[in-house]
Amino acid sequence: MVSRGDLSFQVVDLPDEGVDVEGEVAFSAIDVEDDGVFTFPEALSYALHLAPLDDGILVRGRASGRAVRVCDRCLEPCVVELSAPDVCHLFEHVGRTVVDLTEALREDILLALPQALLCRADCRGLCPQCGCNRNEADCGCHESGADGDADPWGALDDLELGDRA
Ligand SMILES: [Zn+2]
Ligand SMILES: [Zn+2]
Repeated sequence: MVSRGDLSFQVVDLPDEGVDVEGEVAFSAIDVEDDGVFTFPEALSYALHLAPLDDGILVRGRASGRAVRVCDRCLEPCVVELSAPDVCHLFEHVGRTVVDLTEALREDILLALPQALLCRADCRGLCPQCGCNRNEADCGCHESGADGDADPWGALDDLELGDRA
């Protein structure tokens, strides 16, 4: 069963072994919208197994996609891989008619969004004085020196081991 764009699945007369469903859905269809930090230019992929229980449906599988998120320091957009590898939701009392996975996948994807991101570990961020991206240009503004840029090896050099007789 392949679906595109709708996460409601008929579960009437689901065979005992269940069914596999896979497809793609727009992030906007699960109410995950661009918000100034994240944008979602591509679709979300999912591969799920719907298994019948006595009085419900067990949904297991995975979902994955890509988003664009701005770097916390320099605000440059970066592509981030999103993965919800352990989707697992129990729908009780569904009456064996239709199960709607919209809310379930939304939860899983929101958990997969990185809360913090640097474009690279040593991102130099924006200059607090002129606002330029210091990864791209050295604006030459005076550094306050208070933002932890100290070189740890420099501190070791200050110990100056060479003077021992
Ligand atoms: Zn950055
Ligand atoms: Zn500057």
